[in-house]
Amino acid sequence: MTFQELNLSQPLLRAVAQAGYQTPSPIQAGAIPPVLAGRDLLGCAQTGTGKTAAFALPMLDRLAANPPRKKGAVRALILTPTRELALQIGESFALYGKYLPLRCAVIFGGVGQAPQVEALKKGVEILVACPGRLNDLIGQGFVDLAGVEIFVLDEADRMLDMGFVHDVKKVIAKLPARRQNLMFSATMPAEIEQLAAGILRDPARVKV
Ligand code: AMP
Repeated sequence: MTFQELNLSQPLLRAVAQAGYQTPSPIQAGAIPPVLAGRDLLGCAQTGTGKTAAFALPMLDRLAANPPRKKGAVRALILTPTRELALQIGESFALYGKYLPLRCAVIFGGVGQAPQVEALKKGVEILVACPGRLNDLIGQGFVDLAGVEIFVLDEADRMLDMGFVHDVKKVIAKLPARRQNLMFSATMPAEIEQLAAGILRDPARVKV
């Protein structure tokens, strides 16, 4: 299996080659085709498996290939539980999307909000966020999620463990009903299956 065989567009293949990746990891081989096809996905994978590229690459491909649903709006939202993960995911989108005209911002609490608000005001297609600060900024009117086409819930089990379920549900309530949903979790206890059932529609399932 090669990245070419996954039918990713040239700008992404170039970025992946420059990153030094030679073959897709198992989660990438399993997740990229259904996500590219527009399907919802439930991925059971830990950090370190190449999970970020498994969602970022097909998301970037679809965002670049399709016109925005709402001009100037956030088109993809990735919710993740910690600042460290948010920053890593933001860096990955920047790396894989370096040859595409898509902008990314990262939002998390514990720091001043001014630089994050500035980035939002300039306009971003891809928003990586921790749920608490995102709800803060939504409440202040700095984020409009009405144009979101793709939603990712990353590390869902940790979201539950850290007590973010309410915040996550509050964010989801702001999303348009018609959208593509991807959810990743390292473990799949009953609560996660339940959460998934409420968010995902006929998801492809990938486990590594
Ligand atoms: P992640 O699981 O997304 O945190 O990725 C773990 C690490 O694997 C990151 O440092 C990536 O840069 C790297 N990586 C992701 N996909 C590949 C690949 N197909 N080949 C080699 N390294 C990769």
